[in-house]
Amino acid sequence: MEAESYDFIIVGAGSAGSVLANRLTEKSQWRVLLVEAGPKSHPYSRIPASFGLLIDHPTANWRYSSQPEEGTANRRIPVPRGKLLGGSSSINGLVFVRGQQLDYDTWGQLGNRGWSYDDVLPTFKKMEHYEHGSNELRSQGGPLRVSEATDEGPLYDAIREAANELGIPHNPDYNGASQEGIVRTQTTISNGVRMSTARCYLKPIEKRKNLRIETGAHTQRVIIEGSKCTGIEYKSNGKLVRANASKEVIICTGGVASPQLMELSGIGQPDLLKSHGIEVRHELTGVGEHLRDHINAPIKFHMKRGDLSYNKRMQGLGPAWQVLRYVFQKRGFMSLPSAPMLAFLRTRDDMETPDVQMHIVPYAVKNYKKRLLHDFPGITMAVYQLRPESLGSIHIQSPLASEQPAINFNFLSDQIDRDAMLGGVKKIRQIMDTEAMKKVRGDEFLPGREVESDDEILNYIRNTAETAYHPIGTCRMGQGPGAVVDDRLRVHGLSGLRIADGSIMPTMVSGNTNAACIMIGEKASDMIKQDNS
Ligand SMILES: Cc1cc2nc3c(=O)[nH]c(=O)nc-3n(C[C@H](O)[C@H](O)[C@H](O)COP(=O)(O)OP(=O)(O)OC[C@H]3O[C@@H](n4cnc5c(N)ncnc54)[C@H](O)[C@@H]3O)c2cc1C
Repeated sequence: MEAESYDFIIVGAGSAGSVLANRLTEKSQWRVLLVEAGPKSHPYSRIPASFGLLIDHPTANWRYSSQPEEGTANRRIPVPRGKLLGGSSSINGLVFVRGQQLDYDTWGQLGNRGWSYDDVLPTFKKMEHYEHGSNELRSQGGPLRVSEATDEGPLYDAIREAANELGIPHNPDYNGASQEGIVRTQTTISNGVRMSTARCYLKPIEKRKNLRIETGAHTQRVIIEGSKCTGIEYKSNGKLVRANASKEVIICTGGVASPQLMELSGIGQPDLLKSHGIEVRHELTGVGEHLRDHINAPIKFHMKRGDLSYNKRMQGLGPAWQVLRYVFQKRGFMSLPSAPMLAFLRTRDDMETPDVQMHIVPYAVKNYKKRLLHDFPGITMAVYQLRPESLGSIHIQSPLASEQPAINFNFLSDQIDRDAMLGGVKKIRQIMDTEAMKKVRGDEFLPGREVESDDEILNYIRNTAETAYHPIGTCRMGQGPGAVVDDRLRVHGLSGLRIADGSIMPTMVSGNTNAACIMIGEKASDMIKQDNS
């Protein structure tokens, strides 16, 4: 086995890992290795529409799937995760949502010092370049370009009118003071190009002499000697390579792969590790527990005219026209994020802040994996509950890194979640029943208005809903027996090992998770610099 030596080793070049690679190599005296299992890039990735093309791609995507569960009709739900530089930020739906103040204040209230809203706001500001300028909550000058979705047309006009009809106030910035409203999506797209962390954080610094980026390098385990992490073992071109870290290893492999890597390394629940023949290096019962994700229910509608959605416009010569529009104007279907408009709403008037989010998608798909569009004009309104209570788990099923872990979401097991999802579907129907929407929409064709009672709606959700691709919490930050890392992201009971990615979130943030993962990468970098100064 070859041995290499660095100060820091970052495992996983995703949303958070790429940030760490950039920020840690700002210190020219530190030698940093960034290890990524996937390839350097994929030609589709820079185009926003690649969201649909890479959702089940064999090389740029890990293509996990969940275990069959009664609560979701014993289906295996696809769990895509990016497998290339930029990680999931290189294949995601490009929607940019920070979440609510409440989310981070909850993290603080749980005892995580440095993570309440006032603490994380400067980091959110540091990381972004927001096209509409700076104020006390938003900023320019950061690496990540954030711009509003550019798609325009009569569908969006009707939705804005519907919001007026329902008395939903206009909100110019849902990442600002308040999240509530039916809003134009802020995206990680700039001039028609995907702003992944590979592009914004790695590309500008890839030539730094103190950074080595190793792609196609699948980390098999982190090495624990006594109570210290001293390095990693990764597989590259069929060879096992050992790399030593004199200061720290930082695991950034994401909500699914981080608990898997911890368990493969002998860190976790002793009985589970032993049952797979893995020597227990360090007991931490919270590893792989506390999984949360957004279960996402699509409601689909016919539209009255072809110009109201992309379904008709993508037939015949449509795709060729869309390619030309993209090449010359950076507009049209290929420049779309997963949803050009969002809604953040409260399902009950007595709530303080929104509890559901809708993605308003200007087309209707008939095949999830192939992303085939229906041949009639249609749109999709997909809803999820912002802060789910149901807790699942992710654990290894084998001592081999090449085998997928078992993902058990346990979706809809909590009554609060069932109520919120029902409330969300009813809100969609309320929006679609406004005079403004009645002028443009045809019938609801999925599930259809005959699906009316709470039991029927819930049954529909159990049988059809997918995830919104936001698995978090499996290496949770906090104190006490269930926590995996402390509030400086150090693994409890070990030295030289941190985790910095979506897996550390103690509770779900109210929205899509990329922004929060990048923030976690930025904050982890600051902490590592402070702790190693
Ligand atoms: C299809 C899809 C659509 C999404 N849409 C949105 C959206 O529109 N907006 C939004 O905010 N969020 C979205 N998300 C979620 C968001 O992108 C993720 O929450 C975020 O990117 C996760 O960041 P991370 O750093 O935790 O992990 P990731 O970005 O997933 O990075 C983990 C990295 O580690 C690598 N890796 C894993 N295991 C190993 C190993 N053993 N050895 C070496 N490398 C390894 C992976 O290949 C990957 O590059 C979406 C996600 C997906 C998958």
